[in-house]
Amino acid sequence: MNEYRPDRHQETRSVHAGRADFAELGVHAAPIDLSTTYPVHDLGQGTASFDALVGGDASAPNPIYARLHNPTVARVEEALAELESTEACVAYGSGMAALSAVLLSRRAAGSHVLVVRPVYGSSDHLLACGTLGLEAEFVTADEIAARLRPETCLVIIETPANPTLQLTDIRAVVAAAGDVPVLVDSTFATPILQNPAKLGATYVLHSATKFLGGHGDVIAGVVCCSDENAKPLRQMRALTGGLLHPLGAYLLHRGLATLALRVERAQRNAIDIAERLTAHPAVSRVHFPGMAGSNNAQLVGDHPTAQMRGPGCLMAMELVGGYDAAAATMAAVKLITPAVSLGSVDSLIQHPAGLTHRCVDDEARRTHGITPGMLRLSVGVEHVDDLWADLSQALDAGMAAIELATAA
Ligand SMILES: *Cc1c(COP(=O)(O)O)cnc(C)c1O
Repeated sequence: MNEYRPDRHQETRSVHAGRADFAELGVHAAPIDLSTTYPVHDLGQGTASFDALVGGDASAPNPIYARLHNPTVARVEEALAELESTEACVAYGSGMAALSAVLLSRRAAGSHVLVVRPVYGSSDHLLACGTLGLEAEFVTADEIAARLRPETCLVIIETPANPTLQLTDIRAVVAAAGDVPVLVDSTFATPILQNPAKLGATYVLHSATKFLGGHGDVIAGVVCCSDENAKPLRQMRALTGGLLHPLGAYLLHRGLATLALRVERAQRNAIDIAERLTAHPAVSRVHFPGMAGSNNAQLVGDHPTAQMRGPGCLMAMELVGGYDAAAATMAAVKLITPAVSLGSVDSLIQHPAGLTHRCVDDEARRTHGITPGMLRLSVGVEHVDDLWADLSQALDAGMAAIELATAA
């Protein structure tokens, strides 16, 4: 449907991708197709379509049944493929369904997966518990080349990583992995700030629940990759049923239109807040990509060896007062919502050790710096002064709670 336009900028793609046929259709907003089944008047064509879709083709003359294909979902997939500069994109009912599909589709090639921690808590849990029949070995980026085995079928990294914002050098990992495909969970970066496929990643995964949807009202996940690698993913989706509902796909596509705007504004706020946080007495450390003293800071910027065009909209902070101060701060925010998830128009703050990364092995949490005094902040598009007023009063309240407890 869409013609790939290398001359277009991400801001323009974000608004126009997946809409190339609107003029022909005579519409100005994406049509929503809620059909579960489609009439088959021509059985020969129906059978051929069925074979094509079950075989993993992106489309066929007849969609047959909505578990095999849905035009509204296909539209947002096309938009995301364009934003990530990949041939294809496959959408699922959640980020976890998307990750599971990649893992299951790689199983034919081997039973061993290398994973660079930290990763999102549920991804860590899924990999560590081995429930999909894969052995996950947790390594540092430097160890990848030495730990590859003949049965290694995938290398997984998340950059920036949830929740510590650790950056991993995508080009270096792709080089170290050799023939083994690399999956980059790029949820925190969004296609506006980072395009891992251009750096050699085989699969780019997004929890579309976060920035891509952007309004906290749709759970979705996507994998952007080559058409060849998308085929088994579509087959897996048809077999296991991890579908994205067309209403969710519509909302996701609608959210994409403002993605560049939202990221730009939220990032500007985040840069300001990260700076102010480093000077706040309640905070011992701020983790923010590219900030002086942060790991792999050279990967952020607009120079040729950078991989991320800006620091993004998330940060983690460690509080002087530890767990109690973190809990008191979460209880004291009024404008910012104390809740898991991220990437929404509104700001969210949460406690990784107690919530999102609860299921991660205790020792791994400690090793990777997911401390009891850490809070993760997802900065939204509000006015930065209002955000700072709320955050600083909450941090002050957190400090006061600790002082009271020590005095008692
Ligand atoms: C939220 C998240 C996921 C999981 O996505 P869901 O849509 O919640 O299933 C995966 N990776 C990262 C980095 C996330 O933040």
